[in-house]
Amino acid sequence: MDHSPLLCHRCGTELHPGSGDFYVVRIEAFADPSPPVIEEADPDPDPRRELDRLAEQLSTLSPQEAMDQVYRRLTIYLCVACYRPWIENPAGA
Ligand SMILES: [Zn+2]
Repeated sequence: MDHSPLLCHRCGTELHPGSGDFYVVRIEAFADPSPPVIEEADPDPDPRRELDRLAEQLSTLSPQEAMDQVYRRLTIYLCVACYRPWIENPAGA
């Protein structure tokens, strides 16, 4: 059995499953999913060079890192005291 305590992601207080003293927050983040904007101003586009450049950029990343750049999903746990102010201002602005 897993006896490691569940801790609030923000303040580290111990959470007690079944007692309703915390919230589970699921975050899904996508990179801009719209198609790339084509620059019409370029009089002499060189798609091959552009592809080479992109391939070179991607080859420096591991597959996991490349994936992390476009999609992240994480789950955090927040105690009620942390959750209430956080949900009103999740971006922290
Ligand atoms: Zn907390």
